[in-house]
Amino acid sequence: MQGDSHPVVCAWCNATVFGKPPGEGVSHGICVPCAVSLIKRLPPEYLKSIAEPDGAVTLFSGYRVEVSSPADAAP
Ligand SMILES: [Zn+2]
Repeated sequence: MQGDSHPVVCAWCNATVFGKPPGEGVSHGICVPCAVSLIKRLPPEYLKSIAEPDGAVTLFSGYRVEVSSPADAAP
């Protein structure tokens, strides 16, 4: 059940992820920029384990992050 009565605010930077600006009943999630920076700080071995065959990780929102660098790619 999604509606404008249930805003979500990024727990990292306080950006509004969706819904109305912060107020009562706000939930905490993570916005795309923070999710990307979080992913880029994860160990490469872990990223490889969660990445799809094309080397990208799909976030909750459908945003795709390329995690495999060309220099790191196996032939
Ligand atoms: Zn954020």
